Amino acid sequence: MKTLDQLRQRCDIDPNDPDSCWGFPASKVKAPLFDGTDRQGAVEPQRAAWLLAHQRKIKRGWRVYGVCGNPECVNPDHVRSGSMADHGKFIASTGAQKGNPKRLTAARAAARKQAKLSLNQARETIGSTKPVRELAAQFGCAISTASKYRSGLARCYGAQVNPWAGLERCAA
Ligand SMILES: [Zn+2]
Repeated sequence: MKTLDQLRQRCDIDPNDPDSCWGFPASKVKAPLFDGTDRQGAVEPQRAAWLLAHQRKIKRGWRVYGVCGNPECVNPDHVRSGSMADHGKFIASTGAQKGNPKRLTAARAAARKQAKLSLNQARETIGSTKPVRELAAQFGCAISTASKYRSGLARCYGAQVNPWAGLERCAA
């Protein structure tokens, strides 16, 4: 695919609305690389649209993202290129993830699933004065894991764990 028109022709576009989204299924497409060669690289459709519309390389580390809310849209007028920070600001401005308790709950459930220690084991590790080596042996986890829980680097989700518990013991 060498021109924006070629991409456009493969899109699902409302003929009555010149500003409408260009629907393109989320598969990879070939787009010029603009690095001085004739090669074409396989990229995401939105990246291809940006490349074809702007005829230059995307800045290193920058993202290309749609701003119209349609994940299949490749209309270059609905696609922006920006740094990670720009993208983050855009996401924040849409409020898409603001106050979304379901998302937060899901993230925490995923974190619990990945947790190396159960909540009770984590509590015991945080509150215990035993050497982490012993706790690691007791719970069958790596010493580094137990020490992460003790130092608070590994977070426990699902219940309130007193973050000062370990310190109280130390101070006593
Ligand atoms: Zn769009």
